[in-house]
Amino acid sequence: MGEFELIRQYFAAAPCAQGGAGVVLGIGDDCALLEVAADEHLAVSTDTLVAGVHFPDPCDAFLLGQRALAVAASDLAAMGAAPLGFTLALTLPQADPLWLQAFAHGLGVMAQACRLVLVGGDTTRGPLSLTLTVFGRVPRGQALRRCGARPGDVLCVGGALGDAAAALPLVLGQRPVAATLADPLLARYWSPQPQLDLGIALRGRATAALDISDGLLGDCGHIAAASAVALYIEQERVPLSAALRALLPMPEARQCALSGGDDYVLAFTLPAGHVPALQAAGWPVAVIGRVEAGQGVHLLDAEGRVLNVPAQGYQHFPATAPVSERSSGPQD
Ligand code: ADP
Ligand code: MG
Repeated sequence: MGEFELIRQYFAAAPCAQGGAGVVLGIGDDCALLEVAADEHLAVSTDTLVAGVHFPDPCDAFLLGQRALAVAASDLAAMGAAPLGFTLALTLPQADPLWLQAFAHGLGVMAQACRLVLVGGDTTRGPLSLTLTVFGRVPRGQALRRCGARPGDVLCVGGALGDAAAALPLVLGQRPVAATLADPLLARYWSPQPQLDLGIALRGRATAALDISDGLLGDCGHIAAASAVALYIEQERVPLSAALRALLPMPEARQCALSGGDDYVLAFTLPAGHVPALQAAGWPVAVIGRVEAGQGVHLLDAEGRVLNVPAQGYQHFPATAPVSERSSGPQD
C-alpha cells in the first residue's frame, strides 16, 4: 500500500475527518483552513507519543489511537477552549492494514467523544511515534491560564486522581490482577476523558487551570510558579476512586493520586463562591486546598501539619536525578 492510498483509506475517508463546524477545508490540500471568529483566539497544542517511552510497544492499536487523542485534547480542556480540529503526524515502521484500521478506529471514537475533526497530518516511515496537534477556540481574554491564582482562592480538581498511575504496572504486565479490579483502572489509563465541558464551564470563574499529566504535586507547582503564590493541599481531601482503593492500600493509593501522572483531570483555582454552582451543575469538583501568599506546593496532613514531600513530576531531561532514580514513567 502506497502512502497516498494509506492516507486516503484510513484517514481522509474516516468518519472523524468529514468536516465540522469551523473546518473550512480538511484533508487533501497543502493546508487545512480553520475558522475562528473575530472575538476569539485559536488555541493550539502539540503532543508527541513515542513507542517505548510514552506507551508500551507493542500495544493495542485501538487503545493507542484513543489515548493519543485524549492526551492531546486534554490541553484544550485545560485552556477552556472549545474543540475544533486536530492533525496527526504518524511515523510507522510498516503499513500494517490491521494495525492501521484498529488505530484509526480508536482515534475516531475519541475524536467523536471530543468533538474534534481530523484536518490533516503527515505520514512517514520510521520507529513508531505519533504527534498530534489540537486546535480549539476560546473567546478573547477568557482562556484559562496558569498565572492568575490569587491568595484566598481555593484549589480544586475535576475528579478522582491516581487511577492511571495505579494502572501503569498492569499496563506493563508487571502485576497479575483479577480483571474486575484491573479493568476500571486500565480504562482510565487507555481512554482518559478530557474534561472539555468542565474547561468551558470554568471560563470567567477559574483564575488558573491546567490538566494533570505529570502528577498533582508537580503540576500544581506550575500554577504556584506562574502565579507567584503558594498552594496548600490537604491530602485527606484529594479524591480517590473506589477502584483505586480496592486495588491498593493506603498510603500507596494516595501516593498514586499525589504523584502519579496520566490522569488528565483538571486542577484549578477560583474564588470559593463559584464552587457550589459548579457542583450543582453536576461537575465532580472537589476542593482540595487553598492559595496563599508565598511560593511552592505544600502538602498538609489531617491536622493541618505541613508534610515534607518532593513535589516533582516526571521530566525527560532532569536537571539532577539520573534515570535510574526515577520512580515514575514518562507522562507528558
Ligand atoms: P504535503 O506533501 O503537501 O505535506 P502530504 O502528501 O504529506 O502533503 O499529505 C497529503 C494530505 O494528506 C494533506 O492534506 C495532509 O494534511 C494529509 N495527511 C497526510 N498524512 C495524514 C495523516 N496521517 N492523517 C491525516 N491527514 C494526513
Ligand atoms: Mg507531507
